[in-house]
Amino acid sequence: MDSAFAAIAERLKTATSVVALTGAGVSAESGIPTFRGPEGLWQHYKPEDLATPQAFARDPRLVWEWYDWRRQKIAPASPNPAHEVLAQLEQIVPDFLLITQNIDGLHRLAGSRRLIEMHGCIWQVRCLTEGTVYENREVPLSLLPPQCACGSMVRPDVVWFGESLSVEDQARAFAAAESADIFLTIGTSALVQPAASLPIVAKDRGAFVAEINPVPTPITPLVDSHLQGAAGVILPQILSILLKS
Ligand code: NAD
Repeated sequence: MDSAFAAIAERLKTATSVVALTGAGVSAESGIPTFRGPEGLWQHYKPEDLATPQAFARDPRLVWEWYDWRRQKIAPASPNPAHEVLAQLEQIVPDFLLITQNIDGLHRLAGSRRLIEMHGCIWQVRCLTEGTVYENREVPLSLLPPQCACGSMVRPDVVWFGESLSVEDQARAFAAAESADIFLTIGTSALVQPAASLPIVAKDRGAFVAEINPVPTPITPLVDSHLQGAAGVILPQILSILLKS
């Protein structure tokens, strides 16, 4: 495994353009449950049954109770070594872009700035009447569902299943994947589109694609290197080799 780490470190040293895609697994070591692990379930509901516009239209209070539970899990969490290494890579690689599917805000907290939060941020809410977006960090929420100053209900400013991503974010993410020398896919089950297509696009355009995950995923057969294990363990080892070389 050490030689696989050294090989990636060597490539990172000479790369000009690196894209990293992260998913819920990168925050698992910060204590935030992934969707597909047993802890991802809340009161026997599947996230796919709650993170939808239909679920919110049917029962906004239920959806907000779930988000309130998730916010309580995320609020005390700190970035882990994986978040920190990704923030450092931004300083080392000339053209680095981090694309996350996570809504927990931990990459920003770790210092990443060249960052696309594809699915939004759990600490932002959007007024259903005015469309205004603003920060709300109240934990736990005192009013469910929470309200805007105008009296209208707000929703989490996140992208739900069946909703479209920002056109601008999507274009930027795909353009970066198309021109990347190295594409790292970290802690994602590679099931949620369109993020799951990014490593495939990068591979088609000639990037070296490496995956970090404790288990194989649907894209494992396509990647150049599958590093099996926890992101918070593997990324610091790669960075340490890179800094010594
Ligand atoms: P997912 O739950 O489908 O998959 C998580 C992946 O991480 C799995 O493949 C798992 O094997 C891997 N993993 C677990 N521990 C790991 C570790 N220590 N290091 C590396 N990998 C590890 O999550 P997903 O692919 O991100 O997609 C589902 C959706 O989940 C996304 O839309 C995302 O917005 C949402 N989500 C976000 C958070 C968060 O913001 N922290 C948490 C749960 C779900």
